[in-house]
Amino acid sequence: MSRRNRELHVPRPPATPAAAHRLLQQGNAAFARLVATAPHDTPTLIPLLSADAGSFGRGAPRSQEPFAAVLGCSDARVPLEIIFQQACNDLFVVRVAGNILTSEGLGSLDFAATAFARCLRLLVVLGHTRCGAVTAAVDAFLAPMEYLHLAPSQPLRGVLDRLFIAVRAADRSLREVHGPHADNSPGYRAALIECSVILNAALTAHTLARELGEGEHHEREIVFGIYDLESLGVWSPPSRATQTPRALPGMASPPATPAAFRSLGKTVARMPRVLALLDAA
Ligand SMILES: [Zn+2]
Repeated sequence: MSRRNRELHVPRPPATPAAAHRLLQQGNAAFARLVATAPHDTPTLIPLLSADAGSFGRGAPRSQEPFAAVLGCSDARVPLEIIFQQACNDLFVVRVAGNILTSEGLGSLDFAATAFARCLRLLVVLGHTRCGAVTAAVDAFLAPMEYLHLAPSQPLRGVLDRLFIAVRAADRSLREVHGPHADNSPGYRAALIECSVILNAALTAHTLARELGEGEHHEREIVFGIYDLESLGVWSPPSRATQTPRALPGMASPPATPAAFRSLGKTVARMPRVLALLDAA
């Protein structure tokens, strides 16, 4: 068995949320390594775990047995099964611009949580760096008059309006940590986009947990994370405020209370990656 196959050989479906989390982390690490070592000028075939191909096999299709449900962005650079290196029948996927929680998305995830209660161990909200939907919401926030040409489009406004809460929370966090005139910093827009991406994923995961009443379920967990388009890794902010809060590999539990969400906002605003963006010319 190759090194890669050994790493991915985890009993399926995983028995616990922690095991499901580990499986996604291992898959994402394998993906990042695969891309790092692949030649740049020739196409690379992403391996498929044939044993888990499910309905690709001969005979009657297997029943659905996803071990995780993922709400991710529609961004073409963030194909969820590929970046987590999972086969068909492993993930129940909902993708929508800005990984916002629409009523249809919530209905889909609610269905998954109910119909696949036997095997579903994790619900993931995955944001990503350089998100175009979040960037559009940030630009509309910073220059409201520019937003007017989008106003007639009700569906588009539906996406941006859902993102404004996270953008406003990110703006407030940056000003609390870096002063009321933080927006004078040369990289304020980029820092605001980064903070908004993180807080949007955290807030969406929090909302999802509330909607599904997850406090009553110990056999599955709801987590959030950020996919980094540069490193190809999935990370999350630390839950505890420290002097230099660094991104941690993998996903994290969302804040459970408004106070915890506000604390997370300040932690995010202090992260070195946000400071670097804020100071960049
Ligand atoms: Zn996006």
